[in-house]
Amino acid sequence: MAALEELEEARAVWLAYEVAFAERRKREKHDGLRRPGSFDDWHRRTWGGFGVAWCDDPAVHPKGPLAGVLRALITALESEPGGHCPVCTSSRIVWKQDMVHEPWCGPVCTGCGILVPQPVLTDEALAQARRVRRRELASVG
Ligand SMILES: [Zn+2]
Repeated sequence: MAALEELEEARAVWLAYEVAFAERRKREKHDGLRRPGSFDDWHRRTWGGFGVAWCDDPAVHPKGPLAGVLRALITALESEPGGHCPVCTSSRIVWKQDMVHEPWCGPVCTGCGILVPQPVLTDEALAQARRVRRRELASVG
């Protein structure tokens, strides 16, 4: 029951964001502005879904309620890209592949387990996440 309420609240937060996003896009189109492709990609994949705050590993997940996690992500999306997880501020972000759902691969925070939207991270942070991934592969072999 509590879980369902949490999901409902999270959905409300996300829907409000979707509305704001759609309005902004309309304005930007009118002004002839274009967003970077990666942002569009990310948004399309998460459209109407919960890919945003999805945790690939059910054993690792953010402590706060889903709605709070979504708010943190939305705030980060509306700010300049950074080098930290927007939810738990950890900088230990690892590029994961072969995940069980879309987008199949991406930067995952090892602190709280969320899939960090790529537009939230700087190019440098993304490159760093990929380097960690390679190091891990090397140590396994
Ligand atoms: Zn985190």
